Amino acid sequence: MTGRIPLMAGNWKMNLNHLEAIALVQKLAFALDDKDFDQVEVAVLPPFTDLRSVQTLVDGDKLRIVFGAQDVSQHTGGAYTGEIAGSMLAKLKCTYVTVGHSERRQYHAETDEIVNAKAKAAFANNIVPILCVGEGLDIRKAGEHVAYTLAQVDGGLAGIPAAQAEQIVIAYEPVWAIGTGEVATPEDAQEVCAAIRARLAELYDGELAAKVRVLYGGSMKPSNVAGIMAKPDVDGGLVGGASLEAEEFVKLVRFRD
Ligand code: PEP
Repeated sequence: MTGRIPLMAGNWKMNLNHLEAIALVQKLAFALDDKDFDQVEVAVLPPFTDLRSVQTLVDGDKLRIVFGAQDVSQHTGGAYTGEIAGSMLAKLKCTYVTVGHSERRQYHAETDEIVNAKAKAAFANNIVPILCVGEGLDIRKAGEHVAYTLAQVDGGLAGIPAAQAEQIVIAYEPVWAIGTGEVATPEDAQEVCAAIRARLAELYDGELAAKVRVLYGGSMKPSNVAGIMAKPDVDGGLVGGASLEAEEFVKLVRFRD
């Protein structure tokens, strides 16, 4: 993890209304202290409808928690009912946005081309994309998980210049481990995270690859976080279920304890 500050990002998915969001962020802010924030970047990714409330709280109380969105439109604006533009997220001071989460790929038919366009839309608005990649169970069983995941990395990064790529966060999330309680072993996580970093070195260069944070996501919880975070190419977690309870999420932030 040389020189890279770990990132723990809570993907709340379609959970918590704006009042519940405020309550959870307040609990996190109360439980975490400067030592935590010096060692780990802590991010929450609430539903769109919560963002304004979270922003007001974070700004007003000068919290060190950062926040972002779970999706962004590939379009800049106009007749796209239900979509949210990158400029709107930037106006709310979003630091991050996830692109290509497996649930978006599966339920909203997002292809690598769309994910790539969304990553570009994020960068165009100075928002850092968290590019989610990872294989399903059939692909893992066939032993093709590394090649499959790297193809998603290639697709997601197509045409993105080094000056932007060096800021990106990549989250390796094996689909079979998301929300299933089935966690990848630390070795599984390390294998693919290291392969992603090696691919970044091929696509760009070694210096850039050494800067990019590669996260693991998939049923990360207090009982397994230390083993996963001990791996040299894992720089944090994209956390679903365990990010909805302050106590659990704080334990993940304090993975070293
Ligand atoms: C996720 O949705 O990105 C995720 C990793 O979920 P969970 O932690 O619940 O498996």
